[in-house]
Amino acid sequence: KLLDKLNRDGDNSMTQKLFDTIDTGQIDSNLRILTGKPRLAGTENNRESGDFVHRQFLQYGLQSEIIEYNVTLSYPDKTADNYVSVMEEDGTETFKTVAIVEGDEVQPFNAFSPSGNVMGDLVFVNYARDSDFHKLKDMNINVSGTIVIAKYGKGFRGNKVENAYGAGAVGIILYSDPGDYAPSGTNSTYPDTVFLPTDGAQRGNIVLNKGDQSTPGYPANEYSYRLREHELNSRLPKIPCLPISYSNAYSLLSLMTGEQVPDEWKGGLNITYRIGPGLTYKRKINLRVSNKLENRRIYNVIGKIKGELEPDRYVMVGNHRDAWVYGSIDPISGTIVMMETARVLGRLLKEGWRPRRSVLFCSWDAEEFGLVGSFEWMEDNSKWLTPQAVAYINVDSAVSGNDTIHLKTVPLLQKVFEDAANKVPDPYGKYNNAYEAWRNHPRFRVYKMGGGSDHVPFLAGLGIPSMYPKYSYLKDIWGSTSTPLYHTRYENYHAFKMIDPELKFSKTMTSIISESIRNIADSRIIPFDIDRYTEYISNGVEELLNHYGQVIGPKMEEWIHKSVNAFHESAARLKSIIAAIHNDNDDPLYARQVNDKLLWLERTFLIDEGLPGNSMYKHLLHSPDTANYYGGVSFPGLGGITQCMDIQNTTECHAEIHKHVAKIIQRIFDAAKTLNS
Ligand code: GLU
Ligand code: CA
Ligand code: ZN
Ligand code: ZN
Repeated sequence: KLLDKLNRDGDNSMTQKLFDTIDTGQIDSNLRILTGKPRLAGTENNRESGDFVHRQFLQYGLQSEIIEYNVTLSYPDKTADNYVSVMEEDGTETFKTVAIVEGDEVQPFNAFSPSGNVMGDLVFVNYARDSDFHKLKDMNINVSGTIVIAKYGKGFRGNKVENAYGAGAVGIILYSDPGDYAPSGTNSTYPDTVFLPTDGAQRGNIVLNKGDQSTPGYPANEYSYRLREHELNSRLPKIPCLPISYSNAYSLLSLMTGEQVPDEWKGGLNITYRIGPGLTYKRKINLRVSNKLENRRIYNVIGKIKGELEPDRYVMVGNHRDAWVYGSIDPISGTIVMMETARVLGRLLKEGWRPRRSVLFCSWDAEEFGLVGSFEWMEDNSKWLTPQAVAYINVDSAVSGNDTIHLKTVPLLQKVFEDAANKVPDPYGKYNNAYEAWRNHPRFRVYKMGGGSDHVPFLAGLGIPSMYPKYSYLKDIWGSTSTPLYHTRYENYHAFKMIDPELKFSKTMTSIISESIRNIADSRIIPFDIDRYTEYISNGVEELLNHYGQVIGPKMEEWIHKSVNAFHESAARLKSIIAAIHNDNDDPLYARQVNDKLLWLERTFLIDEGLPGNSMYKHLLHSPDTANYYGGVSFPGLGGITQCMDIQNTTECHAEIHKHVAKIIQRIFDAAKTLNS
């Protein structure tokens, strides 16, 4: 009886019911409540927002728990200085940056920047990427001992700080250039548009180690060991860093001397951009940062729907709840999608439906401080998640724009997303469904996972297949996945309503997410796409050989091909087994045998010691790129090694590459065996 009820593959009535239950009135109400106050992690306001989500989950008919951790966060010292000033040769201060904040809003700062008071010449370093510092070197500009100023954008801010420190800078100033953040001109900004006004400043953490900084590897509970101050400081950024607005940056940059910047480095301010080093009339720059590390309590909320036949298999959906200020887009546009998904699934529960597998709804805290809530919970639960978690869907900032879909996914889950989007109406009303609208958009592309949000502990840490979909971009003019108001005090209810006035993108995302969850939770055979995995590995290996073929030599190359062939054969064999099951075998134990192979496939690419450059990341294919933490690449471990190869083509680097490629070959063979076992 139960099996008949649960074998409902191909039954679309549930999907339709889900879509029909979505209510934009509910979405709007949650949006309004959650964006009513700033929700900085570690503050009373964000504890309250956790209580709210918890109460809503219970009301929707889910089980719900609040899970607390005690972690080290970083805040500006309100009583001390945080500014950049211009000092005349005689020591008088003639200009000082100002930041505008009201009420509970935290002033612009970069979490985990050390405090510092440094004085020096200013150098303009473009986006502070590796390539920008290479260029400065070519131009014979010595950055050592200077304070650098860098534009936000084109990479994670923590990498900018790392690069500046590596080049010998003693401090770094980050600002949002209007060329990037107000592309239609500085007269057309918030509150009239979603572009950045002159006084907007982007907050954000600058750490490269994720999770609670004091308890690496273990959950930050009452009995855990916490690093002592010197151990802690050795993990944190070394030079002071402060974000400023472009009106403040104008006052600094317009005083600069030195050569003009290369054309590609110019921004949107009405000045002549110069590299420096230094300011006119021997003026110096003074950067003062006063931040404090503090132990604070954080609150994850975990809602649950218990599965009927396989309660010990979990589909997870998650998003953080904390924000730098009001965080209407980041993260709340995702939280409202997750909450409405919980509500509609809860409604079906009340009508007698129960998914085959369990579903977890995770509202993380302190993501903005380096994925702290999700990492601690992962560290607290890794031993049962590893054998039992099927997939993790990240819904951070689910509506960051309204131009088209932006999908990051592992190959195993791409089809789940496509199938769901295929069943959902096109929000633009032009195509048959949301998938076709995206497929026909000039920006259609599928991205590799990379870093930057709460999927990282689950995917790069435990090998749980993940996807991270959004609506993104602004038509023709804004080609980035975040919005211009990202992490500023203007990213509020009003700003979000300019992007999604009728909540139709929020609704579309809710449909796609709820159907994706239903599909993974309910399908007899986990709907993983093995063909896409095979294709990913083949393409990745081809890329690898193009880059490193010379270094590794013909023997290794032959072994790579052998491993890929073994994987192809196993994948084909498993696919035919799955096809046969679909036709004539409904034994749940047999289905479990097949599903376990699928479930362990992604896990086989983990290496205990972690990647060169960052041992927290254990996945050979889906970890963040070491050179740009936001980015995803096919074999992220090779990026860190190549950085050293750029500088010196030594045997040391070649040995590292050999070592890493040997691990890749081993794991491809392991994956073949896992599917065959
Ligand atoms: N999403 C936040 C950011 O990009 C935090 C990401 C992280 O620290 O991993 O600033
Ligand atoms: Ca920890
Ligand atoms: Zn976010
Ligand atoms: Zn954020």
